[in-house]
Amino acid sequence: MIRARDIRRLSRGLRFRLTATYALFFALLLIGVTGVFHERLASSLDNQVHSVLDQRWAAMKGYLRIERDSETDPMKAIWYYDKEDPDESRIVLGIRSVYLITDSNGNTVPDLDGQPAVSQTYLDIGVDSPADIKKLVRGALANSRPFWTVKRSRQGVDYLIRSGIVYDEGHFTGGRRSPYYVALGSSLAASSNTLREFSLLYIAVIPGSLILGSLLGWIMAGRALAPVRAAAQAAARISSSNLSLRIPARNAGDELDYLIRTFNRMIDRLEASFQQMKQFSADVSHELRTPITAIRGQLEVALFTAQTTEQYREAMFNALQDIDRLSQIVRAMLLLSQAESGQLVLQKSHVDLSAMARDLVEQFQIPAEAAGVRLTSDLPAECPVELDRVQIERLISNLLSNAIKFTGEGGRVNVALRRQTAEQGPERIEIVVEDTGRGIATEHLPHIFDRFYRVPGPGAAPAPEQGLGLGLSFVAWIVKAHRGKIDVESAPGKGTRFTVKLPAPGLGSGAVETAGQAVSQS
Ligand code: ADP
Repeated sequence: MIRARDIRRLSRGLRFRLTATYALFFALLLIGVTGVFHERLASSLDNQVHSVLDQRWAAMKGYLRIERDSETDPMKAIWYYDKEDPDESRIVLGIRSVYLITDSNGNTVPDLDGQPAVSQTYLDIGVDSPADIKKLVRGALANSRPFWTVKRSRQGVDYLIRSGIVYDEGHFTGGRRSPYYVALGSSLAASSNTLREFSLLYIAVIPGSLILGSLLGWIMAGRALAPVRAAAQAAARISSSNLSLRIPARNAGDELDYLIRTFNRMIDRLEASFQQMKQFSADVSHELRTPITAIRGQLEVALFTAQTTEQYREAMFNALQDIDRLSQIVRAMLLLSQAESGQLVLQKSHVDLSAMARDLVEQFQIPAEAAGVRLTSDLPAECPVELDRVQIERLISNLLSNAIKFTGEGGRVNVALRRQTAEQGPERIEIVVEDTGRGIATEHLPHIFDRFYRVPGPGAAPAPEQGLGLGLSFVAWIVKAHRGKIDVESAPGKGTRFTVKLPAPGLGSGAVETAGQAVSQS
């Protein structure tokens, strides 16, 4: 059973609306076309009857004489034609099928046999009143245009009447000719029958073709929308557990294909971030497990095997160290997840990047000296720029601490600031941290910005000096948040160079002095 709700849902559907629009357009077109056709047909039929009457009028003038035999005789309407000639007989018969001849006062003129010159059909239509005839004769004398009327006979048939005047022969009046009223008619029955037949045809054909057209529209709309339905069904099947599913491409090159491609690309992105999330939680649990196991081990030692205070203290000390690492991981992860979910908003302010880098280089002198590394800088006198002070400090610190960490004794680390002016390209600042350390093998380069990624040491495990593997993830996020770019070049055994490029539009010339004028620190 069809319920009202189903009908409402159907009528709101795209298929229904497409079909309805198509049907409406089709109906208007059909009505318009038949209207114009009807109009043209009516006018052409009308012209035909007019031209038949014009021809009859011309023939009438050739065959009809209004004359009398003697001065005292009344005027008679006499038809001169060869009665043996079937053509002439037919023409005169046609003219006389609907006709009336009167004098200018409206009195019917007799014919050769003394009968009134009027046909029975004209009598059925109704002979014009003398007053009308007089008026018409006066009008026709003033301008010789024919007069057209439509009259209905007693039988209900319409006739087109052409009336006008003809003159008598002017016998016995010294050539003075008097006007006579002549009216010829032709039935409009054939034309109106034709029109009626056509109208009936439209009435029968229009609804039929409308129904057929709408049905066709419904089928076509259904076929056009079928891929949409298929795409929707495919999309409905995609969920978090099967994000690898895609809507099959049709390769039709149409708008729907574009929609499907865009949708699939969106799922690609979703899948990637979903994968990242899964990887993140797997990494986190893995990272947390190591210190927790270590703490458990230390506490077990304290509980079951330690005997002296010294042993207790050592176990406690080790456990505390692991707890430190644990809270470090938790803090770093919290910060990173805040950054990646967009909760960490940049607090940009006016900063002298040169001064900031100089301070950091000073702070890192102590750990550098401890590692036997020479830390130098190549900085301009000043470099005013808009950026987030805390985050950029964190960026430079991370790069510096890595560089010092992974550069052996006797090595060198250098920090430089460069500026690209508008003439050289888009205005930007470049922060370069370079070291002569152990470098990174090419196969590891694409991964060093991944969370928890640490380049393995000589064995499979990460080298002992390595940290959490989160430092460069932060660097990458800070660069991205500042709409910048980070490049890394490295040669194993020779050293590594990180180049951070930050957009800094509108610095104006002289805001950053060239590196040539920069002060070098060691
Ligand atoms: P970590 O906390 O281990 O330093 P990072 O994300 O900062 O983590 O770095 C990821 C890995 O990239 C490091 O473990 C190290 O193997 C490698 N790396 C980073 N910077 C350098 C560098 N300057 N020289 C050599 N290797 C580096």
